[in-house]
Order: sequence, then structure tokens, then C-alpha cells
Amino acid sequence: MHALSIQHVNYTYQTQYQKVEALRDISADFDAGKVYAIVGKSGSGKTTLLSLMAGLDLPTQGEVLCHDVATSQMQLEMYRREKVAVIYQNFRLFPLLTVAENVMYPMELRGMSPKEALGKAKALIERVGLPATVLDRYPTMLSGGEQQRVAIARALGMETKIMLADEPTGNLDTANGENIFSILQSLAHEDGYCVIIVTHDRTLAQKADDVLELRDGQVVG
Ligand code: ADP
Ligand code: MG
Repeated sequence: MHALSIQHVNYTYQTQYQKVEALRDISADFDAGKVYAIVGKSGSGKTTLLSLMAGLDLPTQGEVLCHDVATSQMQLEMYRREKVAVIYQNFRLFPLLTVAENVMYPMELRGMSPKEALGKAKALIERVGLPATVLDRYPTMLSGGEQQRVAIARALGMETKIMLADEPTGNLDTANGENIFSILQSLAHEDGYCVIIVTHDRTLAQKADDVLELRDGQVVG
């Protein structure tokens, strides 16, 4: 059973004036314990593919299966809340919440008590290599690399082992980018996560266990 399986997926954006076939007959499997890189030029369909895996929409044709269940057979809101964790280029932390509150948020959403959530948040902040002193700070008081680590910690507070990342190092310098990549890699190799990273960065892509290259909405390698 694959963590995620893309089966003959097409996706068409329908705008007022035109149709854009963003994905054309894409098939790919993604397994636990591995890091995957999705590469390709701007406009090749990377974000669209990741969005379908993140449950933001359903394919126009074909299926996205998560542990053998098609997203078309689930409530997408439940899927997004429980099955996949996503991190972004711009971190997307809640600016008015402290770091601790950001990390606790998905746990409290699942009904965990604030006390237990805080204990877990502390452990997750340590897991991503940040000092406990950041817990009471606000996201804007942190560097980009630190904010991305907080975003990873928050994603780890979900009960899923599927982690999707859209250009997670795109706003970071090389050293911070490599650091974020190695955290994601350790999640796959040590904790059994299925990690899927969209990236422009060929050097990072080379470190992935498997690379999926898109061109004009199709898989070329
Ligand atoms: P990438 O992430 O590889 O840069 P995208 O998945 O964002 O590529 O885009 C794939 C194609 O779909 C491009 O041709 C893009 O212009 C088009 N596209 C993306 N989002 C939309 C949208 N909301 N409406 C119409 N077309 C879109
Ligand atoms: Mg993109």
C-alpha cells in the first residue's frame, strides 16, 4: 500500500476565457520512509499536483489515493485536517499567535487539552532544533529558517505521516535551505514519513530518494 498514489490524473483550470490543462495523465506512487522531489520549470504543474495531494481540490479526471482510499471518496476537509501536513515557501504561521500557540493549534483542533498540547509543542520545537526560548515569541521575531522550522513542528503536531512541501527552501539562503532539507530527510528516514518536496533547487533534488520531473503537465522522468 502506498502512502499516496496518483493514478492517471488530469487537472484543468477553467477560467473565464480559456481552459488550462495543467496536468495531463500523471501517474506516480509515493511511499513511507522516502523523500521525493518534484521538479520542473515554472508553470509545469508542480503546485497543481501538490494541491491535489493536499486535498485542495479533486482531479478533473483520475484519482489521488491516500493509503488506497481515493480523495474523491472522502470529505476533503477531513482529508486536509487528518491525512496530510503541508508546509509552504512563505511559512504561513499565524502572526498573532506565539510559536507555542502555532504548534499547539492542530493538536487543540483535534481536541487535545492545552496542557498536553503544550508539552508536545515543547518536544516538537526541540525536535526541529530550536531552543525552548522561541516558544513565547511571535513568528515575526524569528528568521526565515526559524519560521520554517516552526512550520515543520506545527505540521508534526498532526497525526499524519505524510508531509508535503511547496518550495520549502525557496525563501531561505543555502545553509538554512540545507538545514530544512535535512530535517525533512530525517523525518522520512528515521520516523517513516512520506516526504514530498516541490523544489527548483537541483542540488536539493539530487539528495532526494526519488525525483519526479514535470514538463508541460506531464511526467518526463
Ligand atoms: P508550477 O508550480 O510548476 O509553477 P502550476 O501548477 O502553478 O505550476 O501551474 C501549472 C499551469 O496551470 C500553468 O500553466 C499555470 O499558468 C496554470 N495555472 C495555475 N493556477 C491557475 C489558476 N488558478 N487559474 C488558471 N490557470 C492556472
Ligand atoms: Mg509552483
